Amino acid sequence: MGSPHPPTASGPGCAAAFPPAYSCRVMEQRCAPAWILTAIVCAVLLAIGGCAGSARAPEAQATEQVRQPVPILMYHVIGPAPTGARLPALFVRPAHFAAQLRALERAGYEAVTMRQVWDAWHHGGRLPRRPVVLSFDDGSAGHVRHALPALRRAGWPGVLNLAWRFLPDTGGESAVRRLVRAGWEIDSHSITHPDLTRLTDAELRSELTESRARIRDAFGARTDFFAYPSGRLDGRVKRAVRAAGYLAATTVRAGYAKPTADPYALPRIQVSGGTSGPALLRRLRDLRP
Ligand SMILES: [Zn+2]
Repeated sequence: MGSPHPPTASGPGCAAAFPPAYSCRVMEQRCAPAWILTAIVCAVLLAIGGCAGSARAPEAQATEQVRQPVPILMYHVIGPAPTGARLPALFVRPAHFAAQLRALERAGYEAVTMRQVWDAWHHGGRLPRRPVVLSFDDGSAGHVRHALPALRRAGWPGVLNLAWRFLPDTGGESAVRRLVRAGWEIDSHSITHPDLTRLTDAELRSELTESRARIRDAFGARTDFFAYPSGRLDGRVKRAVRAAGYLAATTVRAGYAKPTADPYALPRIQVSGGTSGPALLRRLRDLRP
């Protein structure tokens, strides 16, 4: 939701366990403790045709799938739910998050940004064989403390849907810059996280344009994508999002995002606290178009 804000493998088996879309670069990151064996694996790959040119390279296998539907996962807080939390399902423990990432990797998923999805859908860009977007709503400390290192280990980017009023909870501008440096995309989730359907036209315009401008000015990010706070939208809000210059916007409706659907009402898939890796994969299978 745009929520009510609540506040490796190693050795030879490593190569066998990698999803097909992986590059040697990512393999090195993942297998860092066993770099010698990784080097041997890469040397063998190079000997049989070059790692970059092998069937494992995303570019080599995505040609016919550039317009495919993409699951956009929706996370909120990465961290334990405090006692008495009003919406405990919005809290995902770091250990559960790490297990979900491992399950996604083993199943062959590779994380991408909204920009990559958009470019693949509309500008001939390429996606990996099994793309997934990991989006994090609001902005909170666990995004930097837990999600950032876990995603970095996988060599994956995240997408922060930042509501500007929660910037201090996230750790301030320096913390968000760490995300940007790690390849994260920073998108807008408004300034104050209001129910946009209840605002005047002027207030609505301010929430949409001001949040975009602040993110751009602070982080140099283009911020072409928006996430509706608490998933609240109607026709007027959608028109305002478009008029503010956003290319697309995500909701809390469950499902895959499709290139042929309304770009200002893209579904996502909420990942709730306690969701196991296998349960997440089942959910993705069940919702796949
Ligand atoms: Zn939110």
